[in-house]
Order: sequence, then C-alpha cells, then structure tokens
Amino acid sequence: MSSAHETETDVWTTEDAKSLYMIDRWGRGYFDVSPDGNLTVAPLQERGSKIAIRDVVDAAIEQGLRTPLLIRFQDLLHHRVRALNEAFNRAIAESKFRGTYRGVFPIKVNQLREVVEEILDAGKTYHYGVEVGSKPEVFAGLSVHTDPESLIVCNGYKDDNFIRTALIGRKLGKKVILIAEKLSEVRMITRVAKEMNVEPMIGLRVRLLTEGAGKWKTSGGENAKFGLSTAEILAAIRIMDEAGMSSSFKLLHFHIGSQVPDILIIKRAVREATRYYAKLRKMGQRIEYIDVGGGLAIDYDGSRSTFHSSMNYSVEEYARDIVHNIADICDEERVPHPNIVSESGRAIVAHHSVLVVQAFGSIEKTPMSPIDIQTEEHKLIQNLLYIKDNISGPNLGESWHDLLQIKEEAQKMFELGLLNLDVKARVEILFWEIAENMQKIASSLEPEEVPDDLGELRKQLADQYICNFSVFQSLLDHWALGALFPIVPIHRLNERPAADSTLVDITCDSDGKVSKFIDLNDVKDTLPLHPISGDQPYYVGIFLTGAYQDIMGDIHNLFGRVNEVHVFLDEDEESGYYIEETIAGNKIHEVLALTQYDNRDLVGKVKAQVDGAIKQDLLKPTEGMRLLADYERGLKDQTYLSLTSAP
Ligand SMILES: *Cc1c(COP(=O)(O)O)cnc(C)c1O
Repeated sequence: MSSAHETETDVWTTEDAKSLYMIDRWGRGYFDVSPDGNLTVAPLQERGSKIAIRDVVDAAIEQGLRTPLLIRFQDLLHHRVRALNEAFNRAIAESKFRGTYRGVFPIKVNQLREVVEEILDAGKTYHYGVEVGSKPEVFAGLSVHTDPESLIVCNGYKDDNFIRTALIGRKLGKKVILIAEKLSEVRMITRVAKEMNVEPMIGLRVRLLTEGAGKWKTSGGENAKFGLSTAEILAAIRIMDEAGMSSSFKLLHFHIGSQVPDILIIKRAVREATRYYAKLRKMGQRIEYIDVGGGLAIDYDGSRSTFHSSMNYSVEEYARDIVHNIADICDEERVPHPNIVSESGRAIVAHHSVLVVQAFGSIEKTPMSPIDIQTEEHKLIQNLLYIKDNISGPNLGESWHDLLQIKEEAQKMFELGLLNLDVKARVEILFWEIAENMQKIASSLEPEEVPDDLGELRKQLADQYICNFSVFQSLLDHWALGALFPIVPIHRLNERPAADSTLVDITCDSDGKVSKFIDLNDVKDTLPLHPISGDQPYYVGIFLTGAYQDIMGDIHNLFGRVNEVHVFLDEDEESGYYIEETIAGNKIHEVLALTQYDNRDLVGKVKAQVDGAIKQDLLKPTEGMRLLADYERGLKDQTYLSLTSAP
C-alpha cells in the first residue's frame, strides 16, 4: 500500500514499480523491470538474456495468436532442474553423504509433453526421472522416459492395467518403482509380477504422524487418504516374503502435502521417515531409497514467511536439511545411507509460465465528470453536499458514518416508492464522489490517524478491471483454495498506477474474479493498475502459474484452453530468443464437442431452422445462406473475446 502515501508530485520510477509489485521478492532473479517500463524475464537469471514479455506478446499477435496467452519460458525449466539437482549434490558432498540424489518430476503438476520432455532433457546428467500418479500418467511416463539409470516412481491407487503397464517398464530394464498406497496393492503387484514373470521394485508409502501445514496439509497425518500404518508395513513385508519377492522392497516413501511453508515440518517428517527406514534396515530389509515426496514450496508473495503462499527456507536449505537429517539418523542407528528421491513439482515448474490477459474495460463507481447541482435540491442531496463541503482529516470517521446513513436512508425511501430515479442517481453519484474524496484525504494521513472502519472504503472504491480470461480455466487454485499469485501489468511500469482495482473475468459467474493479492503481510484486497487509455491494449501478467494452474483448468462457461507459445533463448537471434512452438487454444466447436455437441449436427440443425425461416418468408434464400455460413465460420473462432478493434 506504499503508493497511497506518496504525493502526486513525487517522480515515479521503475524502481517504485518494482517495490510496489514486490518483483524482486517473488521474482527471484528471473523477473525484472526494464528502464522503459517493461516487465522482463531472464530465464537463466544473470547468465542469459532478458526478454520483455510485451515483445513476446506482440510477436505472438503477429503470428495470429491473441490473448489470453500462456507463455512458457522453456529455459527456465532447465534452470530450475539444475538448481534443484545441484542443491542436493552440493549438500551430499558437504555432509559426506554416501547415497546419491535421484529426483523425479511428478507429472501431475504439469503433464504437457513439451514441459515433461524439457525437464527430462535438463535432468539428463543428473539421471532425473518422472513420477506418475494415475493410469494415463503411467502410459505417458513410460513413453517419455529413456534413461535406465533414472527412476519412474508410480504413486496413486492402482489396478491391474496400471501395474501391468509399469511392469512393462521393468521388462525394458527401467527402474520402475511401484509404491503401494494400501496393503491390497502389495498383493496385486506381486500377483501381476508373477504372471508377467518379472521382478518388481516395490515402495511403501508410510503414513507419518507429522502433518504438513498450509492448504494441502491433509495429505499427511493419521487421517491421510494414502499410506500404510506401521502394522500394515510389517504385513506388506510378509506378503512380499510369501510371494518369494522379499528383495523387491526398494523404497520407503512419504508425502506430507504440497507447498509446505515451514522447514521445521519438513525436517520433522524426514526424521520420522528415516527412523522407519533405519528400523526396517535393521530387520534385514535392503531398502535402497528414501523418497521424501513433494512439498518444496514457492514464495508466491515474496514474504519469506510461513504464510500459506510463502516459505521460510530456500531450495539449498531444503536440500541440506533433508540430507543432513537422513545422515544424522542413519549414523545414529548405524545403517547405510540410502539414495534420496524427491518429487518436487511446484518448485520445478511454477516460474516457467506466465499468463498474459488483456484488461479491456473497467467498471467504475465514481462518475466520469462532476454533475451539475441544481438549486432546488432534495433534502438528501443537500445533506450530501453539506458533507462534501465539510470533510477534513479530523472528522473523517464521523463524515463516513453520516454518508453511510444517507445512503441507507435513500435506499429505504426508494423501496417505499418515495424517491425518483433522477434523485437516486444523484445520491449515488455524490456518494461515490464523496467517498473518493475521503479516500484521498485518508491516504494523506498517517496510517494510525485513519479510522478503522474506513479500511473497507478503499476496497469498496476499487474499480473492477474486466479481463479477457477465465479464472476457472487459468487460475483454478485461486478460486478453489484462495491461493495467491503475483499479478503485475507487463508494461507501463514507468508510469504511476492510478486506480486501486480488482480483476473480473468474462465468465458469467460472480466467483470469476481476483480480489485477493499478494502482500508482505497477509493479503491485499486491491491491485494498483493504470488507466486503460483509448486505443492501446493494456496487458496484465499473472505469474508463477506453471504448477497445476495451466493444466488443471476446467471449461466453465465453455471457455477452453488458451493460446500458448513456447519461448527459447537463442543468442543468434537479434531479440535473444525465438518462439519455437505455438499451440492454438480451443476453438468453439472443440469445447462444444466435449459436451456432446457434434459440429455437423450443430450446423445441420441451424440449417434446418434457416430453411424453415426461408419457407416462411422471414429470410431471403441468399441472406439465409450467408447467415448459415457466418454461423459455421464462427464455430472456428476462439472461445475468448476477440478484442481486435479499439474499444
Ligand atoms: C502432488 C504430489 C507431488 C508434488 O508435490 P509438489 O508440492 O508440487 O512438489 C509429489 N508427490 C506426490 C505423491 C504427490 O501427490
């Protein structure tokens, strides 16, 4: 809220924009602002070039794509994979740990083939593998995985087909580890493995008492949906023994939930799981891997705290703490160091994609220009004018209460039929005009001088910027869980933003909005934005959406997948990058087909209606055929608004 306290005469610089939108904090060296006010991305941080996101949008538009546009910076994936693997390798070297690190990417966090392939490519030298959690994912995982040294970890509930597919991987010489989520799966795995005459690699998911924290904490703890109790682990070992597969137990797994903001919880879970590992080793189980699951968080709000949208640790600290605590307990229990597996998804992919949406209009509460005041005025208007002429810092609280009372009185009179529309209109206009004046006065005061109940005023005065996208398709966790994402205009950052705003999408759903924004303390209700000017498009970027968001979207209101471009750095290009691939978003007929409207059927039915109208002389035949052609052509349009002409 720092901008509000500055006076208008201060010069606005891009440094002000950086601190207002906290770009250095959540941007982590990937995102910055150029001197001409563009938001830039450096996919390799300081080691590669910086790209203005606005330039990519313009290039995509030139290639025929429109916003909403999802931009993937593929080099950023490389950078994240290297950072994670190197953090573990450094930690292992530092603490003279005798196992190795064998990370896997959980593809449910972003299954897009190009994303998974890029990650595997980046992870080749580290033997970085994949984690799958469903039948479709195991089919995908098996096909993209090529390195026999790297793992395929199979989580999730399984049936015969799932297990059989995973064991095809074993037949091909791959290290596919089937993690049993419950006891009956151990029986299924041994049975199918026997039928296929192959030795399975089995992992057991242990149900720890340590619970996660934040929004996904129910993945761990005694009431978790997954995992085996201590007694069940012992029973699982007996089942493997009886099947003659006692050496198949290779991995001990746990997962306490995603986005764990507090490192203390991670340490406690690691220590608890390692205790299981050590005791099992002492019983003669030759387990080779401890798998610490996911949970490595992202600092969405940049606060470096234990708030749900943040984290109080770094990737380096995460790796060091895991390695150190596993070593500590193994040494104490005198058992060999295991290899370490982690299933970090969010931390690998969140940064790499940016969603750019166009704000194309705003719903403002305050009038564009002051209204003429007539001499003969209604009592309510006179009272409002009195308040307007007499507000000052010291009586701000009192004036606000008077203002609210008049508004309520006006509403009552209207309901009783005692107020004409022209008076009602004037009451509304004056109300917002006075509220805005009050807000201006309030923002010039020190925060402690502002009456408490005026806090709501700022929220009420906020304009709503209408953005051409769907929260349900592109920002599902914000709607469902209140997850926060950094949102920043991608240009004009050398101009002072004027309006406190919220964002609304184009779905017909009042939940289709963003009215919670990142802040260093808690959350903010509004986002400062620039006035939308005449014929220039105004673009807002939604950041850190690469994990879960861009893959989980649903087609509420039949808004489909958005256009997408994949950007690669290239020093030979003048711009420093090129667009390798564009993926067109869903067309109208495609989303309709998903809900059983066949394209030919749609056209056929409308044609029958056009024919009928021609017969009844409502239409001339040529006009009818032209309308039918329009309908048919329109089906190939994108689902979002085409905002080509100036508003
Ligand atoms: C979802 C999931 C992950 C990924 O978690 P992140 O917090 O995104 O790293 C890892 N392992 C399992 C078993 C999961 O279900």
